[in-house]
Amino acid sequence: MIPITEYAGRDVAVYGLGRTGLSAAKALAAGGARVHAWDDGEAARAKAEAEGVNVSDINKRDWQKFAALVLSPGIPFRFPQPHRLVRMAEMMNVPVVGDMELFARAVQALPEKGRPKIIGITGTNGKSTTTALIGHILKEAGLDVRVGGNIGKGVLDMAALNANAVYVLELSSYQLDLVESLRCDVAVFLNISPDHLDRHGGMDGYVAAKKRIFANQRPRDAAIVGIDDPYSQAIAMGRSRPGGGRVVQISSEFGLARGVSAVDGHLYDSTGGQAIRVGDLAEAEALPGRHNHQNAAAAYAACHALGVAPGRIMAGIRSFPGLPHRMELVGEVEGVRFVNDSKATNAQAAEQALKTWPKVHWIAGGVPKAEGIEPLEPWFDRVIGAYLIGESEAAFAKTLKDKADTVKCGTLEAATQAAFDAAKASGEANPIVLLSPACASFDQFKDFEARGDAFREIVQRLASQVTPQKEAV
Ligand code: ADP
Repeated sequence: MIPITEYAGRDVAVYGLGRTGLSAAKALAAGGARVHAWDDGEAARAKAEAEGVNVSDINKRDWQKFAALVLSPGIPFRFPQPHRLVRMAEMMNVPVVGDMELFARAVQALPEKGRPKIIGITGTNGKSTTTALIGHILKEAGLDVRVGGNIGKGVLDMAALNANAVYVLELSSYQLDLVESLRCDVAVFLNISPDHLDRHGGMDGYVAAKKRIFANQRPRDAAIVGIDDPYSQAIAMGRSRPGGGRVVQISSEFGLARGVSAVDGHLYDSTGGQAIRVGDLAEAEALPGRHNHQNAAAAYAACHALGVAPGRIMAGIRSFPGLPHRMELVGEVEGVRFVNDSKATNAQAAEQALKTWPKVHWIAGGVPKAEGIEPLEPWFDRVIGAYLIGESEAAFAKTLKDKADTVKCGTLEAATQAAFDAAKASGEANPIVLLSPACASFDQFKDFEARGDAFREIVQRLASQVTPQKEAV
């Protein structure tokens, strides 16, 4: 844990007791603050209490005594409208901060020589993959690396600050909204497309939140920016980018005269003005597809900015094992390959999967995003059959009408079975059944992980039906 001493001897309200709220409450208490933690959910409160956190109803406390309100990133800060307790804090002049801000200030309080390096990663898609990939490369290169933030551990749950460590932090737009003081030695901005717009008051608010990753950067710091979408391109060009970091452009669309490019499956470094071929990305089995090549280019640029040699970086890219629920091969039954891309919760993410194979038996649906699956229309000719589930069933069936064979299946179980049957009957050599829902999961599952795990279990069941397990004797 990273104890937060900034509020020692003072009262701090913590609202929202999910993973990050809990870790913030504990870190503040360890640093000597009097913590008043609250969550509207009884189960979350009970869990916090069981873990030794002081649970007290901050709705009933005197707000004049609070030195800060620590807000969970899951709670609306500005949009669609500030949460009631945010308004209360503002009325009472109580600063609102997030766990990442507490971390940033703890780092800032260290002497410059004792300051660890920080790599921050943001973007609409690819954050977790790129964060994990950078963590893997640096670890393989022998560095003391700590990975956290929006992935895995909450940032304050990480081991105590160490001057020689590199902190690799995944930063969501919600977290960035609550950050003022973070200085990233290396800031990675992968891409941006419409997502979570309700929470940021539209595209401008969303882009503004993401851009905060560059704030406080100094000229020697690196700002690694993908230039494959118009918003990111504008940011790379410097329009309204905060901070003073030096820009390194990356692309998986174009060969850049200066920057890092992944073109035709090869990685090139032309940051020195001359293109050097770094390696063949086909050797990176866990990073298929152009989108993953963007992640690889970003990870290369980030590690290179820290001084890791190209050969070592490429070795790490090659040996990266991948993350679950992102185009993860979860089984092969009677020649049919099942790919779990449950993390594809919007159309842009699902598009990457549809682009990867020429023919797919596609399972999609859940709680749709505003754009639905209309942006995927250019890829519908790759869809041999669409097996629809969840809340979006009728809407997606309408979008797919006359463009692909569609079956409304209701549940993931029924969809997987129907896709399996159709794939076997298709006569293709190695048919692909792809779960890439382009939707959030919470109509039928706790989260995307639960949805992906359910898919894996269904596939395992299908496999065991084909090859019956021997009975125990
Ligand atoms: P995030 O953490 O930003 O949600 P992940 O790395 O977990 O991103 O990947 C989520 C999904 O987005 C994956 O299923 C994949 O299909 C897609 N994806 C991954 N990287 C990219 C990228 N660079 N551009 C577009 N889509 C991507």
